[in-house]
Amino acid sequence: METPQRKNIAILGSTGSIGTQALDIIENYPHLFHAAVLTANHNWELLAKQALKFRPHSVVIANDSKYSLLKEALQGSGINVLGGTDAIAEIVKLPVIDMVLTAMVGYSGLIPTVNAIEARKDIALANKETLVAAGEIIISLVKKHNVKILPVDSEHSAIFQCLVGENRKSMRKILLTASGGPFRALTKGELENVTVKDALNHPNWDMGNKVTIDSASMMNKGFEMIEAKWLFDCQPDDIEILVHPQSIVHSMVAFQDGSIKAQLGIPDMHIPIQYALSYPQRLPSEKYFLDWDKVINLSFELPDYDKFPLLRYAFDAIKKGGNMPCILNAANEVAVKAFLEEKIRFTRMPELVKYTMGNTPFVVEPNLSQIIETNSEAVKIAKEWVYTHC
Ligand code: MG
Repeated sequence: METPQRKNIAILGSTGSIGTQALDIIENYPHLFHAAVLTANHNWELLAKQALKFRPHSVVIANDSKYSLLKEALQGSGINVLGGTDAIAEIVKLPVIDMVLTAMVGYSGLIPTVNAIEARKDIALANKETLVAAGEIIISLVKKHNVKILPVDSEHSAIFQCLVGENRKSMRKILLTASGGPFRALTKGELENVTVKDALNHPNWDMGNKVTIDSASMMNKGFEMIEAKWLFDCQPDDIEILVHPQSIVHSMVAFQDGSIKAQLGIPDMHIPIQYALSYPQRLPSEKYFLDWDKVINLSFELPDYDKFPLLRYAFDAIKKGGNMPCILNAANEVAVKAFLEEKIRFTRMPELVKYTMGNTPFVVEPNLSQIIETNSEAVKIAKEWVYTHC
């Protein structure tokens, strides 16, 4: 039998939650996958450790001030060491790369993703902010360059799996599930006083800080709705959010005939990451099985848009279109940072986002440079708001 060629993967954000789990999978299947490029934002120590173990062609540290430390740690290893965000945007074009896993945080994923698509690399998409900020541009590039875009987000992986073998026209609705986060049971009044520690304590998923705060505010679900709209070519009103606190049903698709398909599994990101890397194959695993003794009840409820206004703003932004989702994302990045630094309260994040959406110049059909410009303007406006309100 012919041995399949190993897939060479560039992991952008290899030291984060998704990146480290992707490396677990690569370690489990060394004959199928090779980590060809690893990049990190500032954690040079972990990046150096990963590089010595996985022997990539190149590593890049975004934060220039850590470059010399990384370079020294990898001296004599034969691994190419680079520094700076421009180097990340360039390295994705490396001929040896087959697939780019975009697992960095926030807006920083946009330019490397654009470059990777233009260099005809398949994308395993974990950076949802890229599609929020520039969905229309990204999807038209994907079509133009005929590359695959495989969702890593557990909900989108679930929807993707429900649609395998189906005619897209028979899809009626996407039922996007949400855990509801740590504050699902709190009243609007109780939300006023939640702390950073409370918000970082997610009931089901172990994730990075940015997405954990976004889950607590339900901004994450709003972003995922926008992500689903672009990935599965549907209208926002065709996406229904369902709060499902057990996080076992990862999302569902309702079809024209009334049938609903769901994808279930334990809440562990290894499963959707592995599926994105191995698609259309399913690889055997020993540890990711659902223990039905622990799943006594699966419940579903509708979200509270009044308590979590950011979810509503996501619908407003995508319906408005143009650069509005990019403004939403930029404002939210500033809001999350300000909340994590304890400069603003949890309930002020939606106020800041609303203000920024109302005060950043609107562009109907933005090109990539207008998206970049919008992001900087919105960040500036949001930061000024923080400055005057704390
Ligand atoms: Mg998700």
